[in-house]
Amino acid sequence: MALGGFTVISLIVFSILYISHYFIKDLQTAQDTLTEMALTDAMTGLYNRLTGIGMLKKEISRVSRNGNPLSLAIIDIDLFKKINDTYGHSVGDEVLITFARMLQNNIRKCDTACRYGGEEFLIIMPDTALKNAFMSVTRLLDMIHDAPAKTEKEDVTFTFSAGVAEVVVGEEVDDIINRADMLLYKAKSQGRNQVCMA
Ligand code: GH3
Ligand code: MG
Ligand code: MG
Repeated sequence: MALGGFTVISLIVFSILYISHYFIKDLQTAQDTLTEMALTDAMTGLYNRLTGIGMLKKEISRVSRNGNPLSLAIIDIDLFKKINDTYGHSVGDEVLITFARMLQNNIRKCDTACRYGGEEFLIIMPDTALKNAFMSVTRLLDMIHDAPAKTEKEDVTFTFSAGVAEVVVGEEVDDIINRADMLLYKAKSQGRNQVCMA
């Protein structure tokens, strides 16, 4: 009788532990998915604007602690509206995805790329002085000249313009973004398909 009761209780306890193990695992997976969704851009898989700005903020505070250089690039795909108009929105999406993958595969491990907006991207480059940052972004531009985006319908040739700036001690996130943005504007107004630094 006592043995029977013990067996039943053991079975119940075992079942509860077994079920809760899987329940907790599912909860953990759901939580991981939600975290990833909050941090990244669903289409390109890059970090989203909010995450990128958070990371930039962190890197800026490191600059004031260790004095190492930090550079930022803002990249904007040229005449992207025309790509959408010519090939269709879904091909435009494919170009963005291909470009994001190219960025991800060609920046250093310590750099961070994020989708800043529609066809705008940031690259945060810690421990990088202006000249090296400029060279890295120019290399990316050379790369896309040589490799058009292969989409389901056709190969799409495109270019980008970029502004690159190095953080000056005392600058906040908005300051460096504004400076890089002004350089991007300069690149656009000088004819696009180029990188401007200052
Ligand atoms: P510029 O060289 O001056 O940057 O010209 P542009 O055409 O790239 O700039 P504009 O800001 O006029 O157009 C950006 C376009 O990007 C407009 C918008 O419809 C498109 N776009 C934004 N997000 C997405 C997206 O997720 N997918 C696609 N396919 N298009 C997008
Ligand atoms: Mg734009
Ligand atoms: Mg554009």
